[in-house]
Order: sequence, then structure tokens, then C-alpha cells
Amino acid sequence: MKVLIVFAHPEPRSLNGSLRDVAVRELEAQGHDVRVSDLYAQGWTSAIGRADFPALPTDARLAPAAASKQAFESGALTPDVRGEIEKLLWADTLILQFPLWWFSMPAILKGWVDRVFAYGFAYGVGEHSDTRWGDRYGEGKLAGKRAMLIVTTGGWQEHYSARGINGPIDDLLFPIHHGILYYPGYDVLPPFVVYKADKLDEAGFDAMAERLRERVRTLATASPIPYRRQNGGDYLIPSMQLRPGLEPPAASGFAIHLAPEASTAPRDSTREAGVHLPADACAAKA
Ligand code: FAD
Repeated sequence: MKVLIVFAHPEPRSLNGSLRDVAVRELEAQGHDVRVSDLYAQGWTSAIGRADFPALPTDARLAPAAASKQAFESGALTPDVRGEIEKLLWADTLILQFPLWWFSMPAILKGWVDRVFAYGFAYGVGEHSDTRWGDRYGEGKLAGKRAMLIVTTGGWQEHYSARGINGPIDDLLFPIHHGILYYPGYDVLPPFVVYKADKLDEAGFDAMAERLRERVRTLATASPIPYRRQNGGDYLIPSMQLRPGLEPPAASGFAIHLAPEASTAPRDSTREAGVHLPADACAAKA
């Protein structure tokens, strides 16, 4: 396997930095090729701006999507963006690793997505007509590749469970899983989530590291989250709504976009991610 880890934490000695090293060492021990985009170390520019489109005439109005299309098609994207696209095409597996900040990814990683997922590469791909809404949601230039998140949270596992006050982790990660990774074609694996990360001690770290090693060993074989394919007949065109009656009666919200075998019961990856706190840790105050 060729694995790209896109890493978004400012401190290499952080928990995230240590977990990244664990993942890299395990993958390499298994004989896989690994590359890391360490966004802070690279000094990654997160905000899209005029500098992204050097070929755009200085007096032209900047329309980011149109400029992205033009630059992608003409090979005029900036070298840093082209370098990341080349890595994405090289890798058959992508890992995005980050601490959960304000219920989402750190700005530097969002900016990596904004700039690297160019028009014509990650979106605006395929036929757009009255009968087809492009190649996306399971199709696209990155189809056939796998992706997984490694996420650490300050909040407890229960806080992110189906009835938890933070909202279910599957719902919070849906925009990344479905909107960013599945959209351009990736098969998205259940996330590896480390809850209550700020309270982790060395013993907890060792256990977590072992769970992470187990997860990366199954990157090639684990079942992806069974999202419905846009062009598989489940959605009406052009409204792009799920056909009436396809969702099981109990399903609502994001869960209706899971294929039937998975959506008969609400999915809860706090039960699946391979990261479970000891019962006493759940009872303790964070
Ligand atoms: P670190 O601070 O680096 O480490 C965490 C603990 O692991 C430390 O106690 C450290 O000693 C220990 N540790 C044990 N072994 C090791 C080892 N070998 N290497 C390194 N460390 C080790 N949380 C939420 O749940 N929801 C949010 O919306 C949210 N928003 C946030 C927004 C911001 C701006 C910030 C700063 C934090 C937010 N948090 C939130 C908390 C955040 O998710 C956690 O602080 C983060 O996930 C912890 O990861 P870290 O790599 O920074 O941990």
C-alpha cells in the first residue's frame, strides 16, 4: 500500500505527533510506503487567495471556483498545491490526522482541503446534465482509494454517543467523511477516535498505540462506511433527494445516506472505532 498521512498539529511532541509516529512505524513495518504531509512543518498556507492563481490577470475579478478550474486544467496551480495533488494520486490510502478543534478540523487542514481539492480534480468532475450530476459521492478521480481519519477529542466517548450533548461523532464527522472524502470518490473507513485525549497518561497511551497499530493493519481490508452512491439509482435527479421510501422507518438525518444493511439501526462509531475507555475512566470527571 502507498499511504499518505496529512498531519495537522503544531507540536511534533504532542499526543497527535506520537500517534502519527506509531502509525508510520507500523505501516512501514508492514512493508507499506508512507509519506507524510506535516502541514505546520511545511508552513502550509491555509487561505485561498489571489496568490493561488498566478496566471489570473491582476485586474480580473477573482471567482475561486472558476479560477481553480482554469488553473487545474492549464497546470497553473501553485507548486505547493500541485505537490499535494501528486501525493494524493500516488497514495492508495489517505489518512487525515488532527485534534478536534471546535467540533471540526483545525483551520490549516481545512485550508489544505480548500486549496488542494481543486475544481476538475475533486469537484466539477464528470458529466453535468439534466440526467447526470457529475462523478461524485462514490465516483470521481479518487475512486478506488481508501481514506480514514485519526481524530483526538477532549470530550468523553459518552459526550459523543447517540444521546451525548456534543452530538454523535458520526454526525459531527459526516461533513468530512461524506462531504470531503466520499465526494471525490474515496471509500471512507470508520474513524479512529481517541476520546478524552487531554487526560491520557503513559499507560493509556501504550494501550491506545496498540489499538492504532491494530487499526492500521486492517486499512486494506476493513469495510468502508456504506454510503449510498449518488449514481446508483437511490437519488432523484435533479433534486438529488433520496427516493421516497428508501430509508428505513427509524432512520433520519445523515443516517438516511447509509445503504440499507447499515441504516436499519443508527450507526454509532463510538462503538466501532476500536477506542473504548475503561469503565472507570468514563465515570471520572474530565
Ligand atoms: P496533547 O496535549 O499533546 O496530549 C494530551 C495528553 O496525552 C497529555 O496529557 C500528554 O501528556 C498525554 N500523553 C501521554 N503519552 C503521550 C505521548 N507518548 N506523547 C504525547 N503525549 C502523551 N475537544 C473536543 O472534544 N471538542 C472540541 O470541539 C474541541 N475544540 C478545541 C478547540 C481548540 C482550539 C483546542 C486547543 C482544543 C479543543 N478541544 C476540543 C480539545 C482537543 O481536541 C484536545 O486538546 C486534543 O485532541 C488533544 O490532542 P493533542 O495532540 O493536542 O494532545
